[in-house]
This record gives sequence, structure tokens and C-alpha cells, in this order.
Amino acid sequence: MTWDFSTEPEFEAKLEWMRDFVRDEVYPLEVLDADEAGFMRIVRSLQAEVKRQQLWATHLPPELGGQGYGQVKLGLMHEIEGASVWAPIVFGNQAPDSGNSEILAHFGTPAQKERWLHPLLEGRLRSAFSMTEPDNAGSDPTLLSTAAVLKGNEWVINGHKWFTSNGMIADFLIAMVVTDPDAGPYERASMIIVPADAAGLRKVRNIPTMAGEHERFGYGHAEILYEDVRVPADNLLGKRGAGFLIAQARLGPGRIHHCMRWLGQARRAFDMLCERALQREAFGKKLASHETVQNWIADSAAEMQAARLMTLHAAWIIDTQGAAAARREISLIKFFGAKVLHDVIDRAIQVHGSLGYSADLPLEEMYRHARAARMYDGPDEVHRVSVARQILAGYQAPEGMWPREHVPTRREAAQLKFAALLEAATTDV
Ligand SMILES: Cc1cc2nc3c(=O)[nH]c(=O)nc-3n(C[C@H](O)[C@H](O)[C@H](O)COP(=O)(O)OP(=O)(O)OC[C@H]3O[C@@H](n4cnc5c(N)ncnc54)[C@H](O)[C@@H]3O)c2cc1C
Repeated sequence: MTWDFSTEPEFEAKLEWMRDFVRDEVYPLEVLDADEAGFMRIVRSLQAEVKRQQLWATHLPPELGGQGYGQVKLGLMHEIEGASVWAPIVFGNQAPDSGNSEILAHFGTPAQKERWLHPLLEGRLRSAFSMTEPDNAGSDPTLLSTAAVLKGNEWVINGHKWFTSNGMIADFLIAMVVTDPDAGPYERASMIIVPADAAGLRKVRNIPTMAGEHERFGYGHAEILYEDVRVPADNLLGKRGAGFLIAQARLGPGRIHHCMRWLGQARRAFDMLCERALQREAFGKKLASHETVQNWIADSAAEMQAARLMTLHAAWIIDTQGAAAARREISLIKFFGAKVLHDVIDRAIQVHGSLGYSADLPLEEMYRHARAARMYDGPDEVHRVSVARQILAGYQAPEGMWPREHVPTRREAAQLKFAALLEAATTDV
């Protein structure tokens, strides 16, 4: 089968515009000293330019203002956005709003779209996705215990969530809760829209994390208590018991976007690695002339290339065969891409020595963010298990006690197979 990740020249021109725009207009936001009002004024002016270029919230279907781009094109755009932590918000693609808008677009009722989706897309509301719980392993979401009980015309929600990104500043949360405790493990949960001002919803705190400084203006990962929170029955998103199904729809393409954003970050660190190697001298020659540093450069280039092709391939499968067909490829890139990101930044820090460890360069912040990539949207280990299971499903245990390739057994079989010809050869002599 032919694999084709090519894009037309008009789209290439858009990518070129994005590269210049992110470098010239978005990078400066990272180091700007401004209060929230000033910062957001600048962000809104940049968002207006993105809208003029018709590059706003491109992950959405055309009827909601997106461009109907497939995952390959979206991936290439996310690669550029990933270079800066502020680019996704400028392009209307920031997590968790982007994933939430996608599921509202696909599973929301017209009334839910009117109330939550449209203002979210216009940037008038902010959202959060509230699934992980401190008292249950998030890696195995069948263990969720936050429960919603239908009483009259209302859901009554009780439970404890944490790491709800942007939970402190969100106007509404999409909560994954158990509505059908007696159903099968993957049919027990549903998604419910919870307005942030619902009585009984307690935003406890933003959990201090390794990400540190970026989590200003209230961004961060919140601990939330649901204490007899009441919301209308109509706030159920999609079908009752369809929580896992909707979560899958949210996470598949989302992981392509993550991986491509990581490649954008890795590329920026790689550029810094190469530039410093050419700039700094030790032991009579540039660092770039030391073989170890050359190995870092070659290994990083190979790993980034591999991750990029694997991710584009996964995106291409989603575009041509749907997200379900790309399950294995998505899990592959999730853990592989997170490792590539980490390792490239790590080498870039190393080549800069103490400067790399300092906050005078963006590398230490990039490194702290990169660490989380190995956990969110499923830790490495879970994706490895998933990949291994799918691969093993294509194999069978050989019969008997020896492996299929056991040489003495094969030799015996080969002797038997060609016995007649071997016999003839003996007779010839
Ligand atoms: C920056 C960040 C943002 C996040 N944002 C959100 C958000 O917006 N909304 C939300 O709901 N959640 C969010 N999370 C939570 C995230 O989804 C969970 O951290 C993740 O699902 C893992 O769950 P856990 O933290 O409970 O770890 P656990 O499930 O307790 O796992 C701990 C460790 O156990 C090991 N492990 C687990 N399963 C296996 C296995 N099968 N084999 C071997 N080892 C295994 C892994 O090493 C894993 O890291 C975020 C997390 C981070 C770090």
C-alpha cells in the first residue's frame, strides 16, 4: 500500500506563515513581563490575526468554523504550535478546550452546543476535563468511583477528582462519572457537563507541580470536590454509559496532536543543541567536533525523524481508515514520542552545561513539561502493554516443546523434505 503524507502547495504556504508567526509573534510571549490583562490583550490581538488567516480552531468540522483538515494536516500544524507553550491558545487549539470542543461538537445536543460549545469556540468560556481521581489509579479508569445518581430531573454527583487541568479557571467541567455501577466495566461511566458555579462544586486548589512558572493566571491542575453537586439531567453528554466511548473519540486524534507538538518542542531543543555545539569550545576544539556530541546530534535527528514518520503514519491511518484502525500506531507514538522529546531536551541541556540547567534558557522549563508527557493521556507502561497485547494477538504458541525456529528440529525436517534428492545425489556419485 502506498503511504502518502504529502500536502498541496497552498497548505505549505499556510505552514510557512505559521512558522514565521509563531517565531516572531508567539515566542516573545514566553519571556514577556505582563499582568494577566495586558497579556490577554496581546493574546487576543494575535488570535484575531490567526482568525483572519482562517487558521483558528482548525481541529473542528467546517460547520463549526474549522477547515475540515484531516489528521495529517492538523499534525503538521501542531508540530509548529508545539514549539511554544503559548501557541496553542493563540490558534484556538489549547488543551483541554480543544478536546472538549471536539466531543461537544460530536456528541452534544443542539442546546448543549448553543450554551457551551459556541461560547467556548469564541473564547468567551473556558473548560476542563475532570476524570482522574486521587484515590484510584487513573491508568485503569474502570476503577473510577465518582458517582452520579439520577434523582428526579437532576444528576447528583459526589466524588473527588484531581489533575483537572484548568479546573480553577474553567467555566464548566466535563466530568467522567459512574452512572451505572452494575453495568460492564466499560459501560459504567458517562460524561456530564458541570457548570463551575454549581452548588457543591469545591475547587480546592491548584496542585503545585514540576511545571511551575507556566502555571500562572490560574492555569494548572486542580483538585476538585463534588459534594452533592446537582446539575440538570439534560447535562448528560452523549448516551448514558457511553463515557469510555466518548473518551476514546477524544483521545485518539488528541494523541497525534500531542506527539506532533512534542516534535515541535524537540526540534527547538535540537536547534539549540546544534547551535551551542558550534559556538562553545573545549579541549582545543568546538563541542561539535567531539564525537560524543556528534553522536547526540545524529541520535536525536534519527529519533525525531522516526517519531515524526510514525506519527504522520498514525495520522494517515486515522484519515484513511478511522481512529479505531490506528489504535496500535497511536499507542506506539504516545510512549515513543514522549521518550524522544525527553531525550532530545536532555541532550540539549547537557551540551549547554550549567547554562542549560539554568532558567536563563527555556530548556529547563521544557524539560519539566516533557516529564509529564510520559504520564498524561495514559502512562508509557499502559501504552506498551496495549501495543504488546495487540501484537501478540497475531501470534500463536508453537506446538510441542521447541520454538518454531529450533535448528535441530528444522534440520531433521529439511533432511526429510529433500531425502529423495539427497539420495539421488549419492547415487550420482
Ligand atoms: C500535566 C498533567 C495534566 C493532566 N491533565 C488531566 C486532566 O485535564 N484531566 C484528568 O482527568 N486527568 C489529567 N491528568 C491525569 C493523568 O491522566 C493521569 O496522571 C494518568 O492517567 C495516570 O493516572 P495516575 O496519575 O492515577 O497514575 P496511576 O494510575 O496511579 O499509575 C502510576 C504508575 O503506575 C504504573 N502503571 C500503571 N499501569 C501499569 C501497567 N499496566 N503496567 C506497568 N505499570 C503500570 C505507571 O508507571 C504509572 O505511571 C493529568 C496529568 C498530568 C501529569
